[in-house]
Amino acid sequence: MKNMFKKYGLLVWLSLILIAGFVFTTFAGYIVSRDTIHQSISEQTLPLTGDNVYSEIQRDILRPVFVSSQMAHDTFLRDWILNGEEDQELITKYLKEIKQKNNAVSSFLISEKSRNYYHSEGLLKKIKEGDPRDSWFFRVKNLKTQYETNVDQDQANHDAVTIFVNYRIFDYQGEFLGATGIGLTLDTLKHLIDSYQQRFDRKIFFVDQKGKVTLNGSNFGKTGGSLQAMSGIQSISDKILSNRGTDSSHLEYMGNNGKVLLNSRYIPELGWYLLVEQETNVDIKPVQNVYLLNIGISAGVTLLIAGMVLITVRRYQTRLEKSASTDALTNLLNRHAFDFVFQQALLDSERTRQPMCVILLDVDFFKKINDKQGHLVGDHVLKEVAAIAKRSLRESDIICRWGGEEFLVLLKNCTLEKSTSIAENLRNTIANNDFSRTTDLTRGRLSVTVSMGVAQCRENESEDSVFERADLALYQAKENGRNSVYFSE
Ligand code: GH3
Ligand code: MG
Ligand code: MG
Repeated sequence: MKNMFKKYGLLVWLSLILIAGFVFTTFAGYIVSRDTIHQSISEQTLPLTGDNVYSEIQRDILRPVFVSSQMAHDTFLRDWILNGEEDQELITKYLKEIKQKNNAVSSFLISEKSRNYYHSEGLLKKIKEGDPRDSWFFRVKNLKTQYETNVDQDQANHDAVTIFVNYRIFDYQGEFLGATGIGLTLDTLKHLIDSYQQRFDRKIFFVDQKGKVTLNGSNFGKTGGSLQAMSGIQSISDKILSNRGTDSSHLEYMGNNGKVLLNSRYIPELGWYLLVEQETNVDIKPVQNVYLLNIGISAGVTLLIAGMVLITVRRYQTRLEKSASTDALTNLLNRHAFDFVFQQALLDSERTRQPMCVILLDVDFFKKINDKQGHLVGDHVLKEVAAIAKRSLRESDIICRWGGEEFLVLLKNCTLEKSTSIAENLRNTIANNDFSRTTDLTRGRLSVTVSMGVAQCRENESEDSVFERADLALYQAKENGRNSVYFSE
Protein backbone atom coordinates (compact mmCIF):
# COMPACT_ATOMS: atom_id res chain seq x y z
CA MET A 1 0.00 0.00 0.00
CA LYS A 2 2.78 2.36 0.97
CA ASN A 3 4.57 1.45 -2.22
CA MET A 4 1.48 2.04 -4.24
CA PHE A 5 1.13 5.50 -2.77
CA LYS A 6 4.72 6.23 -3.66
CA LYS A 7 4.41 5.00 -7.21
CA TYR A 8 0.92 6.19 -8.09
CA GLY A 9 0.53 8.94 -5.47
CA LEU A 10 -1.11 11.41 -7.81
CA LEU A 11 -3.39 8.75 -9.24
CA VAL A 12 -4.51 7.46 -5.85
CA TRP A 13 -5.22 10.99 -4.64
CA LEU A 14 -7.08 11.84 -7.82
CA SER A 15 -9.27 8.72 -7.53
CA LEU A 16 -9.92 9.37 -3.84
CA ILE A 17 -10.97 12.96 -4.52
CA LEU A 18 -13.22 11.91 -7.40
CA ILE A 19 -14.84 9.10 -5.41
CA ALA A 20 -15.30 11.34 -2.36
CA GLY A 21 -16.88 14.02 -4.56
CA PHE A 22 -19.22 11.55 -6.24
CA VAL A 23 -20.21 9.88 -2.99
CA PHE A 24 -20.80 13.22 -1.30
CA THR A 25 -23.02 14.67 -4.05
CA THR A 26 -24.92 11.40 -4.43
CA PHE A 27 -25.49 11.12 -0.71
CA ALA A 28 -26.58 14.74 -0.38
CA GLY A 29 -28.98 14.29 -3.30
CA TYR A 30 -30.36 11.13 -1.73
CA ILE A 31 -30.95 12.81 1.64
CA VAL A 32 -32.79 15.73 0.01
CA SER A 33 -34.96 13.41 -2.11
CA ARG A 34 -35.72 11.18 0.85
CA ASP A 35 -36.76 14.10 3.04
CA THR A 36 -38.90 15.55 0.27
CA ILE A 37 -40.67 12.22 -0.16
CA HIS A 38 -41.16 11.86 3.59
CA GLN A 39 -42.50 15.36 3.83
CA SER A 40 -44.94 14.92 0.98
CA ILE A 41 -46.20 11.62 2.40
CA SER A 42 -46.62 12.98 5.90
CA GLU A 43 -48.03 16.39 5.02
CA GLN A 44 -50.03 15.67 1.90
CA THR A 45 -50.84 12.13 0.90
CA LEU A 46 -51.55 10.67 4.33
CA PRO A 47 -53.83 13.52 5.55
CA LEU A 48 -55.56 13.46 2.16
CA THR A 49 -56.32 9.75 2.51
CA GLY A 50 -57.51 10.36 6.06
CA ASP A 51 -59.76 13.21 4.92
CA ASN A 52 -61.20 11.14 2.09
CA VAL A 53 -61.97 8.20 4.36
CA TYR A 54 -63.47 10.55 6.93
CA SER A 55 -65.77 12.32 4.48
CA GLU A 56 -67.01 8.98 3.14
CA ILE A 57 -67.73 7.81 6.67
CA GLN A 58 -69.66 10.99 7.33
CA ARG A 59 -71.67 10.50 4.14
CA ASP A 60 -72.46 6.92 5.11
CA ILE A 61 -73.53 7.93 8.60
CA LEU A 62 -75.51 11.07 7.75
CA ARG A 63 -78.22 9.19 5.85
CA PRO A 64 -79.09 6.84 8.72
CA VAL A 65 -79.09 9.84 11.10
CA PHE A 66 -81.66 11.46 8.86
CA VAL A 67 -83.76 8.28 8.72
CA SER A 68 -83.61 7.92 12.52
CA SER A 69 -84.63 11.55 12.97
CA GLN A 70 -87.69 10.96 10.80
CA MET A 71 -88.60 7.92 12.90
CA ALA A 72 -88.28 9.87 16.16
CA HIS A 73 -90.54 12.63 14.83
CA ASP A 74 -93.11 10.28 13.26
CA THR A 75 -96.56 10.99 14.78
CA PHE A 76 -97.61 7.36 14.26
CA LEU A 77 -94.73 6.09 16.36
CA ARG A 78 -95.27 8.63 19.11
CA ASP A 79 -99.05 8.12 19.19
CA TRP A 80 -98.59 4.35 19.31
CA ILE A 81 -96.47 4.65 22.48
CA LEU A 82 -98.76 7.26 24.01
CA ASN A 83 -101.75 4.98 23.30
CA GLY A 84 -100.28 2.19 25.43
CA GLU A 85 -98.28 0.11 22.88
CA GLU A 86 -101.34 -2.00 22.16
CA ASP A 87 -101.10 -3.55 18.69
CA GLN A 88 -97.48 -4.85 18.49
CA GLU A 89 -98.01 -6.07 14.92
CA LEU A 90 -98.33 -2.47 13.77
CA ILE A 91 -94.97 -1.42 15.17
CA THR A 92 -93.27 -4.62 13.93
CA LYS A 93 -94.54 -3.90 10.42
CA TYR A 94 -93.35 -0.31 10.70
CA LEU A 95 -89.84 -1.26 11.83
CA LYS A 96 -89.56 -3.99 9.18
CA GLU A 97 -90.54 -1.52 6.46
CA ILE A 98 -87.97 1.03 7.65
CA LYS A 99 -85.21 -1.61 7.80
CA GLN A 100 -85.91 -2.95 4.32
CA LYS A 101 -86.30 0.44 2.65
CA ASN A 102 -83.03 1.73 4.04
CA ASN A 103 -81.00 -1.41 3.65
CA ALA A 104 -80.18 -1.34 7.35
CA VAL A 105 -79.16 -4.36 9.42
CA SER A 106 -81.54 -3.49 12.17
CA SER A 107 -84.23 -1.01 13.25
CA PHE A 108 -85.41 -0.60 16.82
CA LEU A 109 -87.68 1.17 19.27
CA ILE A 110 -87.34 1.15 23.07
CA SER A 111 -90.17 2.51 25.13
CA GLU A 112 -89.27 4.33 28.35
CA LYS A 113 -92.59 3.45 29.90
CA SER A 114 -92.70 -0.31 29.24
CA ARG A 115 -88.89 -0.77 28.78
CA ASN A 116 -89.79 -2.97 25.82
CA TYR A 117 -87.20 -3.47 23.05
CA TYR A 118 -89.00 -3.80 19.69
CA HIS A 119 -87.28 -4.69 16.46
CA SER A 120 -88.32 -5.75 12.95
CA GLU A 121 -89.33 -9.24 14.10
CA GLY A 122 -91.40 -8.18 17.07
CA LEU A 123 -90.66 -7.77 20.76
CA LEU A 124 -87.04 -8.73 21.49
CA LYS A 125 -86.80 -8.33 25.25
CA LYS A 126 -87.32 -6.08 28.21
CA ILE A 127 -84.33 -3.95 29.08
CA LYS A 128 -83.07 -3.74 32.60
CA GLU A 129 -81.36 -0.83 34.33
CA GLY A 130 -78.46 -2.86 35.81
CA ASP A 131 -77.67 -4.91 32.70
CA PRO A 132 -74.42 -3.65 31.12
CA ARG A 133 -75.74 -4.67 27.71
CA ASP A 134 -78.61 -2.21 28.18
CA SER A 135 -76.62 0.60 29.72
CA TRP A 136 -76.55 2.39 26.36
CA PHE A 137 -80.28 3.20 26.69
CA PHE A 138 -79.84 5.01 29.99
CA ARG A 139 -76.93 6.91 28.55
CA VAL A 140 -79.12 8.04 25.61
CA LYS A 141 -81.88 9.00 28.02
CA ASN A 142 -79.55 11.48 29.70
CA LEU A 143 -77.97 12.80 26.50
CA LYS A 144 -77.65 16.54 26.02
CA THR A 145 -77.93 16.11 22.27
CA GLN A 146 -80.80 14.67 20.24
CA TYR A 147 -78.92 11.58 19.13
CA GLU A 148 -75.68 9.63 19.31
CA THR A 149 -73.89 7.23 17.07
CA ASN A 150 -72.67 4.21 18.91
CA VAL A 151 -70.72 1.21 17.79
CA ASP A 152 -71.95 -1.80 19.66
CA GLN A 153 -72.90 -5.42 19.34
CA ASP A 154 -76.37 -5.91 17.90
CA GLN A 155 -78.35 -8.09 20.31
CA ALA A 156 -81.07 -8.58 17.72
CA ASN A 157 -78.56 -9.74 15.12
CA HIS A 158 -76.20 -12.40 16.61
CA ASP A 159 -74.19 -9.70 18.38
CA ALA A 160 -72.68 -8.48 15.10
CA VAL A 161 -70.71 -5.25 15.50
CA THR A 162 -72.96 -2.50 14.26
CA ILE A 163 -73.08 1.29 14.08
CA PHE A 164 -76.27 2.42 15.82
CA VAL A 165 -77.90 5.78 15.47
CA ASN A 166 -79.78 6.23 18.75
CA TYR A 167 -82.36 9.00 18.43
CA ARG A 168 -84.37 10.27 21.40
CA ILE A 169 -88.22 10.44 21.15
CA PHE A 170 -90.34 13.06 22.93
CA ASP A 171 -94.09 13.49 23.23
CA TYR A 172 -95.92 16.68 22.25
CA GLN A 173 -95.17 18.23 25.66
CA GLY A 174 -91.46 17.38 25.48
CA GLU A 175 -91.54 14.37 27.82
CA PHE A 176 -88.97 11.59 27.07
CA LEU A 177 -90.75 8.62 25.44
CA GLY A 178 -87.81 6.38 24.50
CA ALA A 179 -85.24 5.80 21.76
CA THR A 180 -85.46 4.71 18.14
CA GLY A 181 -83.17 4.41 15.15
CA ILE A 182 -81.44 2.03 12.77
CA GLY A 183 -78.23 0.07 12.81
CA LEU A 184 -75.70 -0.18 9.99
CA THR A 185 -73.38 -3.02 9.30
CA LEU A 186 -69.68 -2.30 9.59
CA ASP A 187 -69.12 -4.09 6.30
CA THR A 188 -69.57 -0.82 4.46
CA LEU A 189 -66.71 0.69 6.43
CA LYS A 190 -64.63 -2.40 5.93
CA HIS A 191 -65.10 -2.17 2.18
CA LEU A 192 -64.19 1.47 2.32
CA ILE A 193 -60.96 0.72 4.11
CA ASP A 194 -60.11 -2.04 1.66
CA SER A 195 -60.72 0.10 -1.38
CA TYR A 196 -58.58 2.93 0.04
CA GLN A 197 -55.87 0.58 1.07
CA GLN A 198 -55.74 -0.88 -2.39
CA ARG A 199 -55.84 2.44 -4.14
CA PHE A 200 -53.14 4.12 -2.07
CA ASP A 201 -51.22 1.12 -0.78
CA ARG A 202 -51.50 2.29 2.82
CA LYS A 203 -52.53 0.63 6.01
CA ILE A 204 -55.82 2.01 7.36
CA PHE A 205 -57.45 1.04 10.64
CA PHE A 206 -59.50 2.33 13.53
CA VAL A 207 -58.86 2.22 17.25
CA ASP A 208 -61.21 3.16 20.03
CA GLN A 209 -60.44 5.67 22.76
CA LYS A 210 -58.49 3.11 24.74
CA GLY A 211 -56.34 2.21 21.75
CA LYS A 212 -58.02 -1.12 20.97
CA VAL A 213 -58.22 -1.92 17.26
CA THR A 214 -61.90 -1.82 16.32
CA LEU A 215 -61.85 -2.08 12.58
CA ASN A 216 -59.22 -2.87 10.02
CA GLY A 217 -58.86 -3.80 6.37
CA SER A 218 -58.12 -7.29 5.17
CA ASN A 219 -54.34 -6.69 4.87
CA PHE A 220 -53.94 -5.90 8.54
CA GLY A 221 -52.50 -9.25 9.50
CA LYS A 222 -53.92 -10.58 12.70
CA THR A 223 -56.99 -8.77 13.91
CA GLY A 224 -57.63 -7.49 17.39
CA GLY A 225 -54.90 -6.15 19.61
CA SER A 226 -54.24 -2.62 20.70
CA LEU A 227 -51.84 0.22 19.98
CA GLN A 228 -50.07 -0.40 23.26
CA ALA A 229 -49.29 -3.96 22.23
CA MET A 230 -47.98 -3.19 18.74
CA SER A 231 -44.23 -2.89 18.46
CA GLY A 232 -43.04 0.56 17.41
CA ILE A 233 -46.39 2.29 17.42
CA GLN A 234 -46.73 1.83 21.19
CA SER A 235 -44.22 4.64 21.68
CA ILE A 236 -46.64 7.17 20.21
CA SER A 237 -49.94 5.66 21.38
CA ASP A 238 -50.40 8.39 24.01
CA LYS A 239 -49.93 11.09 21.39
CA ILE A 240 -52.51 9.44 19.13
CA LEU A 241 -55.10 9.02 21.84
CA SER A 242 -54.73 12.52 23.27
CA ASN A 243 -55.72 14.39 20.10
CA ARG A 244 -59.50 14.78 19.98
CA GLY A 245 -59.41 17.89 17.82
CA THR A 246 -60.69 18.17 14.29
CA ASP A 247 -57.18 18.41 12.85
CA SER A 248 -55.19 15.31 12.15
CA SER A 249 -51.77 14.79 13.71
CA HIS A 250 -48.66 13.84 11.72
CA LEU A 251 -46.62 11.29 13.62
CA GLU A 252 -43.88 8.81 12.91
CA TYR A 253 -42.31 5.77 14.54
CA MET A 254 -39.68 3.14 13.80
CA GLY A 255 -41.34 0.00 12.48
CA ASN A 256 -39.72 -3.33 11.67
CA ASN A 257 -38.85 -2.21 8.13
CA GLY A 258 -37.75 1.33 8.92
CA LYS A 259 -39.53 4.59 9.49
CA VAL A 260 -43.33 4.57 9.35
CA LEU A 261 -45.26 7.80 8.85
CA LEU A 262 -48.66 7.93 10.49
CA ASN A 263 -51.65 10.25 10.29
CA SER A 264 -54.26 10.07 13.00
CA ARG A 265 -57.57 11.84 13.35
CA TYR A 266 -60.45 11.58 15.76
CA ILE A 267 -63.85 10.69 14.28
CA PRO A 268 -66.45 12.07 16.72
CA GLU A 269 -69.35 10.26 15.00
CA LEU A 270 -67.74 6.94 15.90
CA GLY A 271 -65.70 7.92 18.92
CA TRP A 272 -62.81 6.21 17.16
CA TYR A 273 -59.46 7.27 15.78
CA LEU A 274 -58.79 6.80 12.10
CA LEU A 275 -55.14 5.85 11.54
CA VAL A 276 -53.49 5.91 8.12
CA GLU A 277 -49.91 4.80 7.97
CA GLN A 278 -47.27 4.16 5.39
CA GLU A 279 -43.84 2.59 5.49
CA THR A 280 -41.39 5.00 3.99
CA ASN A 281 -38.91 2.56 2.55
CA VAL A 282 -41.42 1.35 -0.05
CA ASP A 283 -41.42 4.81 -1.63
CA ILE A 284 -37.72 5.32 -0.96
CA LYS A 285 -36.66 2.08 -2.71
CA PRO A 286 -36.84 3.43 -6.29
CA VAL A 287 -34.96 6.55 -5.18
CA GLN A 288 -32.36 4.37 -3.49
CA ASN A 289 -31.97 2.37 -6.69
CA VAL A 290 -31.43 5.54 -8.70
CA TYR A 291 -28.70 6.66 -6.31
CA LEU A 292 -27.06 3.23 -6.22
CA LEU A 293 -26.95 3.35 -10.02
CA ASN A 294 -25.49 6.82 -9.68
CA ILE A 295 -22.72 5.55 -7.42
CA GLY A 296 -22.08 2.68 -9.82
CA ILE A 297 -21.76 5.03 -12.80
CA SER A 298 -19.54 7.35 -10.75
CA ALA A 299 -17.28 4.44 -9.79
CA GLY A 300 -17.11 3.46 -13.45
CA VAL A 301 -16.23 7.00 -14.50
CA THR A 302 -13.58 7.19 -11.74
CA LEU A 303 -12.03 3.92 -12.86
CA LEU A 304 -12.07 5.10 -16.48
CA ILE A 305 -10.41 8.40 -15.61
CA ALA A 306 -7.90 6.68 -13.31
CA GLY A 307 -7.14 4.17 -16.07
CA MET A 308 -6.68 6.90 -18.65
CA VAL A 309 -4.38 8.86 -16.35
CA LEU A 310 -2.44 5.69 -15.57
CA ILE A 311 -1.94 4.88 -19.26
CA THR A 312 -0.90 8.47 -20.05
CA VAL A 313 1.50 8.66 -17.12
CA ARG A 314 2.99 5.26 -17.97
CA ARG A 315 3.44 6.19 -21.60
CA TYR A 316 5.06 9.45 -20.59
CA GLN A 317 7.28 7.66 -18.09
CA THR A 318 8.40 5.06 -20.64
CA ARG A 319 9.19 7.80 -23.13
CA LEU A 320 11.13 9.66 -20.47
CA GLU A 321 13.07 6.55 -19.47
CA LYS A 322 13.79 5.74 -23.09
CA SER A 323 14.96 9.24 -23.93
CA ALA A 324 17.22 9.17 -20.89
CA SER A 325 18.86 5.95 -22.03
CA THR A 326 18.95 6.17 -25.81
CA ASP A 327 20.82 8.28 -28.29
CA ALA A 328 18.41 10.42 -30.27
CA LEU A 329 20.31 10.25 -33.59
CA THR A 330 21.02 6.53 -33.87
CA ASN A 331 18.42 5.13 -31.47
CA LEU A 332 21.20 3.08 -29.85
CA LEU A 333 21.84 2.93 -26.11
CA ASN A 334 23.82 5.93 -24.86
CA ARG A 335 27.02 5.68 -22.86
CA HIS A 336 25.24 6.19 -19.55
CA ALA A 337 22.81 3.31 -20.09
CA PHE A 338 25.53 1.13 -21.55
CA ASP A 339 27.59 1.41 -18.37
CA PHE A 340 24.77 -0.25 -16.45
CA VAL A 341 24.31 -3.01 -19.04
CA PHE A 342 28.05 -3.63 -19.17
CA GLN A 343 28.29 -4.08 -15.37
CA GLN A 344 25.50 -6.68 -15.50
CA ALA A 345 27.13 -8.53 -18.39
CA LEU A 346 30.52 -8.52 -16.66
CA LEU A 347 29.02 -10.12 -13.55
CA ASP A 348 27.21 -12.69 -15.68
CA SER A 349 30.34 -13.63 -17.57
CA GLU A 350 32.34 -14.03 -14.36
CA ARG A 351 29.65 -16.22 -12.88
CA THR A 352 29.19 -18.42 -15.96
CA ARG A 353 32.90 -18.27 -16.93
CA GLN A 354 31.94 -17.43 -20.49
CA PRO A 355 34.30 -15.23 -22.53
CA MET A 356 33.14 -11.66 -23.26
CA CYS A 357 34.63 -9.13 -25.70
CA VAL A 358 34.28 -5.46 -26.59
CA ILE A 359 34.78 -3.81 -29.96
CA LEU A 360 35.51 -0.11 -30.17
CA LEU A 361 34.61 1.28 -33.60
CA ASP A 362 35.61 4.67 -34.98
CA VAL A 363 34.68 6.15 -38.37
CA ASP A 364 37.74 7.02 -40.46
CA PHE A 365 38.25 10.63 -41.45
CA PHE A 366 34.80 11.53 -40.30
CA LYS A 367 35.79 15.12 -39.99
CA LYS A 368 36.38 15.20 -43.72
CA ILE A 369 32.90 13.90 -44.42
CA ASN A 370 31.46 16.62 -42.26
CA ASP A 371 33.63 19.26 -43.85
CA LYS A 372 33.07 18.21 -47.45
CA GLN A 373 29.47 17.03 -47.47
CA GLY A 374 28.07 18.87 -44.52
CA HIS A 375 26.87 17.91 -41.06
CA LEU A 376 23.63 16.39 -42.29
CA VAL A 377 25.50 13.87 -44.38
CA GLY A 378 27.70 13.19 -41.37
CA ASP A 379 24.60 12.46 -39.32
CA HIS A 380 23.27 10.22 -42.06
CA VAL A 381 26.55 8.25 -42.08
CA LEU A 382 26.37 7.76 -38.30
CA LYS A 383 22.76 6.49 -38.56
CA GLU A 384 23.64 4.16 -41.40
CA VAL A 385 26.72 2.76 -39.58
CA ALA A 386 24.51 2.10 -36.54
CA ALA A 387 21.87 0.36 -38.70
CA ILE A 388 24.45 -1.83 -40.47
CA ALA A 389 26.06 -2.79 -37.16
CA LYS A 390 22.69 -3.72 -35.72
CA ARG A 391 21.86 -5.86 -38.73
CA SER A 392 25.22 -7.66 -38.75
CA LEU A 393 25.40 -8.48 -35.05
CA ARG A 394 23.56 -11.07 -33.00
CA GLU A 395 20.42 -10.33 -31.01
CA SER A 396 22.33 -10.76 -27.76
CA ASP A 397 25.08 -8.29 -28.73
CA ILE A 398 24.70 -4.80 -27.38
CA ILE A 399 25.74 -1.70 -29.33
CA CYS A 400 26.05 1.77 -27.93
CA ARG A 401 27.02 5.14 -29.22
CA TRP A 402 30.17 5.80 -27.27
CA GLY A 403 30.35 9.41 -28.35
CA GLY A 404 30.91 11.41 -31.55
CA GLU A 405 31.60 8.94 -34.33
CA GLU A 406 32.61 6.14 -31.99
CA PHE A 407 30.57 3.04 -31.22
CA LEU A 408 31.11 0.30 -28.71
CA VAL A 409 29.89 -3.28 -29.12
CA LEU A 410 29.60 -5.82 -26.31
CA LEU A 411 29.76 -9.45 -27.40
CA LYS A 412 28.59 -11.86 -24.72
CA ASN A 413 29.66 -15.48 -24.71
CA CYS A 414 32.18 -14.83 -27.50
CA THR A 415 35.91 -15.57 -27.79
CA LEU A 416 38.49 -13.02 -28.94
CA GLU A 417 38.99 -14.93 -32.17
CA LYS A 418 35.28 -15.03 -32.95
CA SER A 419 34.86 -11.39 -32.00
CA THR A 420 37.71 -10.33 -34.28
CA SER A 421 36.14 -12.21 -37.14
CA ILE A 422 32.75 -10.59 -36.46
CA ALA A 423 34.48 -7.20 -36.40
CA GLU A 424 36.24 -7.99 -39.64
CA ASN A 425 32.93 -8.89 -41.29
CA LEU A 426 31.36 -5.67 -40.07
CA ARG A 427 34.32 -3.59 -41.33
CA ASN A 428 33.99 -5.27 -44.72
CA THR A 429 30.23 -4.66 -44.96
CA ILE A 430 30.64 -0.96 -44.09
CA ALA A 431 33.52 -0.51 -46.51
CA ASN A 432 31.47 -1.98 -49.37
CA ASN A 433 28.36 0.05 -48.59
CA ASP A 434 27.30 2.98 -50.76
CA PHE A 435 26.07 5.48 -48.17
CA SER A 436 24.52 7.72 -50.84
CA ARG A 437 21.89 5.13 -51.71
CA THR A 438 19.81 5.78 -48.66
CA THR A 439 19.83 9.60 -48.79
CA ASP A 440 19.06 12.48 -51.16
CA LEU A 441 21.66 14.66 -49.50
CA THR A 442 24.58 13.54 -51.61
CA ARG A 443 25.21 12.50 -55.22
CA GLY A 444 27.60 9.86 -56.50
CA ARG A 445 28.98 6.98 -54.52
CA LEU A 446 29.79 7.72 -50.87
CA SER A 447 32.15 5.22 -49.27
CA VAL A 448 33.05 5.22 -45.60
CA THR A 449 35.53 3.04 -43.77
CA VAL A 450 35.87 2.26 -40.08
CA SER A 451 38.67 1.11 -37.81
CA MET A 452 38.15 -1.20 -34.85
CA GLY A 453 39.93 -2.35 -31.73
CA VAL A 454 38.90 -5.62 -30.06
CA ALA A 455 39.65 -6.74 -26.49
CA GLN A 456 38.54 -9.71 -24.40
CA CYS A 457 37.65 -9.04 -20.76
CA ARG A 458 40.11 -10.63 -18.40
CA GLU A 459 39.26 -12.10 -15.03
CA ASN A 460 38.82 -9.41 -12.38
CA GLU A 461 39.75 -6.75 -14.88
CA SER A 462 38.29 -3.28 -14.39
CA GLU A 463 35.96 -1.76 -16.94
CA ASP A 464 38.34 1.09 -17.67
CA SER A 465 41.19 -1.28 -18.31
CA VAL A 466 39.25 -3.28 -20.96
CA PHE A 467 38.18 -0.11 -22.75
CA GLU A 468 41.72 1.21 -22.61
CA ARG A 469 43.06 -1.95 -24.28
CA ALA A 470 40.33 -1.76 -26.95
CA ASP A 471 41.21 1.91 -27.47
CA LEU A 472 44.87 1.00 -27.83
CA ALA A 473 44.07 -1.63 -30.45
CA LEU A 474 41.93 0.96 -32.28
CA TYR A 475 44.83 3.42 -32.17
CA GLN A 476 47.00 0.74 -33.77
CA ALA A 477 44.46 0.28 -36.54
CA LYS A 478 44.42 4.06 -37.15
CA GLU A 479 48.21 4.19 -37.10
CA ASN A 480 48.48 1.35 -39.55
CA GLY A 481 46.39 2.88 -42.28
CA ARG A 482 42.77 2.66 -40.94
CA ASN A 483 39.95 0.46 -42.44
CA SER A 484 41.23 -2.43 -40.36
CA VAL A 485 40.67 -4.48 -37.19
CA TYR A 486 43.27 -4.87 -34.43
CA PHE A 487 42.96 -6.79 -31.21
CA SER A 488 44.60 -6.56 -27.87
CA GLU A 489 46.31 -9.77 -26.75
P1 GH3 B 1 40.11 9.60 -37.52
O1 GH3 B 1 40.09 8.77 -38.74
O2 GH3 B 1 41.44 9.80 -37.00
O3 GH3 B 1 39.16 9.08 -36.50
O4 GH3 B 1 39.62 11.02 -38.00
P2 GH3 B 1 38.29 11.72 -37.66
O5 GH3 B 1 38.15 12.91 -38.51
O6 GH3 B 1 37.19 10.73 -37.74
O7 GH3 B 1 38.49 12.05 -36.13
P3 GH3 B 1 38.08 13.25 -35.20
O8 GH3 B 1 37.86 12.69 -33.81
O9 GH3 B 1 39.09 14.33 -35.32
O10 GH3 B 1 36.75 13.82 -35.74
C1 GH3 B 1 35.48 13.47 -35.23
C2 GH3 B 1 34.48 14.46 -35.73
O11 GH3 B 1 33.15 13.98 -35.56
C3 GH3 B 1 34.57 15.76 -34.96
C4 GH3 B 1 33.13 16.14 -34.73
O12 GH3 B 1 32.83 17.42 -35.22
C5 GH3 B 1 32.34 15.12 -35.48
N1 GH3 B 1 31.15 14.75 -34.83
C6 GH3 B 1 30.98 14.30 -33.54
N2 GH3 B 1 29.68 14.02 -33.28
C7 GH3 B 1 29.02 14.27 -34.45
C8 GH3 B 1 27.64 14.18 -34.83
O13 GH3 B 1 26.75 13.79 -34.03
N3 GH3 B 1 27.29 14.50 -36.09
C9 GH3 B 1 28.21 14.94 -37.01
N4 GH3 B 1 27.84 15.24 -38.23
N5 GH3 B 1 29.51 15.06 -36.67
C10 GH3 B 1 29.91 14.73 -35.42
MG1 MG C 1 37.02 9.68 -33.07
MG1 MG D 1 37.10 9.15 -36.44
